[in-house]
Amino acid sequence: MGVVRKTKHLEQVLRVFRQSSDPLSARMLLDALPNEVNKSTVYRMLDKLEDDGVIHSFMTLEHIRFYALCKGCSSGQRVDSHAHFQCTSCKRVSCFSDEIVLPIPEKARITSVQVLFTGQCQSCLS
Ligand SMILES: [Zn+2]
Ligand SMILES: [Zn+2]
Repeated sequence: MGVVRKTKHLEQVLRVFRQSSDPLSARMLLDALPNEVNKSTVYRMLDKLEDDGVIHSFMTLEHIRFYALCKGCSSGQRVDSHAHFQCTSCKRVSCFSDEIVLPIPEKARITSVQVLFTGQCQSCLS
């Protein structure tokens, strides 16, 4: 019974991600899910999905964690190499599709890297 519910909630979470073209915060995700899904369940699922390489996350200027579906990254290759963008006017966030190449310091084990571009998005400029 518990397992069935868990699977259903996971399906719902993945559906919300697929339907959104933008990265989502846990708060936005919770708002899009039925009320029966509680906050700690969502956080647990997000952690698990990130561990499994299904989604990746990054912090915005406000230190809010956003999550987005991974395209082609796996749990084996953990360092996400695309940058993110946050519009300082409308606060919208997005993934940049282009890979960025960063120098990795030697003698260090890098597990994550985060590059956040900020500025104004196309719709705020026009
Ligand atoms: Zn904007
Ligand atoms: Zn991304």
